[in-house]
Amino acid sequence: MTDGGRLVVGVSGVRGVVGEGLTPEVAARFASAMGTYCRGGLVVVGRDTRPSGVSLRYAVVSGLLATGSPVVDVGVAATPSVQLAVGEHGAAGGVIITASHNPGEYNGLKFVSSRGIFLNAEEGARLRQISESGRFSFGGQPPTPEVRDDRQAAARHVARVLGLSYLDVARIRARRFRVVLDVGNGAGGRVASGLLEALGCATRVLHGEPSGVFARGPEPVAENLKALAGEVAARRADVGFALDPDGDRLSIVTEKGEAVGEEYSLALSAEGVLSRSDGGVVVTNLSTSRMVEAVAGRWGGRVVRTPVGEVHVSVRMMAEGAVIGGEGNGGVILPEAHYGRDAAVGIALVLELIADRGGSISEAVDGLPHYEMIKAKAPLEGDLRGDLGEVLAPLVGGADLDASDGLRASWPDAWLHVRKSGTEPVVRVVAEAEVRARAQALVEEALGLLARESGRHPMTNREG
Ligand code: MG
Repeated sequence: MTDGGRLVVGVSGVRGVVGEGLTPEVAARFASAMGTYCRGGLVVVGRDTRPSGVSLRYAVVSGLLATGSPVVDVGVAATPSVQLAVGEHGAAGGVIITASHNPGEYNGLKFVSSRGIFLNAEEGARLRQISESGRFSFGGQPPTPEVRDDRQAAARHVARVLGLSYLDVARIRARRFRVVLDVGNGAGGRVASGLLEALGCATRVLHGEPSGVFARGPEPVAENLKALAGEVAARRADVGFALDPDGDRLSIVTEKGEAVGEEYSLALSAEGVLSRSDGGVVVTNLSTSRMVEAVAGRWGGRVVRTPVGEVHVSVRMMAEGAVIGGEGNGGVILPEAHYGRDAAVGIALVLELIADRGGSISEAVDGLPHYEMIKAKAPLEGDLRGDLGEVLAPLVGGADLDASDGLRASWPDAWLHVRKSGTEPVVRVVAEAEVRARAQALVEEALGLLARESGRHPMTNREG
C-alpha cells in the first residue's frame, strides 16, 4: 500500500496497519476523544471480523469508560447494523472498529454521531482537536460507567429491512430465489443471510467464516468475485451477492455468472425505488456512474452530486429529502431504513425489483444504459500546487464543470472526475463514456496533463 502503513486520519475516522500506524494506544486516545466529545453519553461499539479487532475493542472500550461514557457492545457487526444501533439505543455516538475493504493487516475506527451517520467535517475536526490537545474528560466521579452486551443488532437490522414499505415480502418469497452470497469472511453475513432466509431464498454462502482472514480480495470488485461468479453459474442460481468486510457495500453477479461491477447496485436500487416514488431526488457522489441520471430521467427524478465520502452523501440526502442515494462503489442508502450505506438494503431492493418486473437480474441489468468507466491514479508527491482547473484547462474546455471535490467535467457523451485522494498520496482519475475509447482517451489526456504539471514542481524532484 502506498500509505506505508501510517495512520491515515480522515473526515470520519482513522485507519492504519495494526502495530504500525494503528496501535492500541492510538485507539484508546481516539476513543477517549470520542468519550469526551460525547460528554459521557452512551456510545455503541462494534467491530468487523478482523482478528486485530479483539484487542482494539478493549482499547476503545477503555478510552470510552475512562471518559465517563457507558458502552453498549454489539460485538462483531456490519457497519450499518452499528449505525442503526446508535439510534435504537438513543446513544450519543458510536465507534466502529473496521478498515472496511482494506487488506487484512489494516484496521481502523469510524466514528458515528447521534444521528446514526458518520461524523461530518466539522464534527470530525472537533474530535481530532480533542485528540490532539489531549484534553480528555478523565477522572469522573463514581459510579464507573458500565459495559452492556447487545447481540441483537443484526436481528433488528433484518427486521428493519423487512419492514421497508418498498418491499412486497410475500411476492419475493413466492419467487423462491436461489442465491449465492459471498460474505468475504466479513461481518455482514448474519444480516445478509438472515434477510435472505426471511425472503424465502435458498441461499448458498461462500466465504462465510467470520474470520477476518480474507480468502478473496476484500473489495467486492468484479475481479475478486470469480469464485462467486462460478458458483452462481454452476448452481444455476438466480443471482449472486457479494459484500465487503463490514457489510456496507454490495456487488451483484447475474444468473449468467457475470460480475457486473458495483456501479449497478445503486442504479438498480434506484430504478426500483424511483419507479414507485413519482420521481424525487437521488444523491450520489461525483465519481458515480451516470446510469443514475439515466434512471432518474426515466422516472422524472433529479440527481444531486456531492464530494466523495459517505457522510457528504448522507448529509445532503437529509437536506434534500432524497428518496434514495449512495455511492457507485456499491453503497446504497435508503432513508426509510437509515442514512448509511447498507448492503442488506441493496439486496432487498434488487430482489424486489426482479420480483416486481417478473424477469431475471440480467434483464434488469440490460434494462439500464451501458457505459464504460475507467479508473486510474497518478502518484502525488507533496501537494498539487496548480489549480486543477488550470492544469486540465486544455482538456475541459466546453464542458460543464463542478469544482466541489477536485474537478469534474461533463459532456453530453462523457464525464471526467479528477481529485486528490483523501487516503492515499495519489490523484484519482475516473472517466465514463458511452464508448470505451472515449473514456480511455480522457483518462490518458488527464494523466498526461497531471504529469506535465508535476514535472514543473521542484517538489516532485526531491528524493523519496
Ligand atoms: Mg465498507
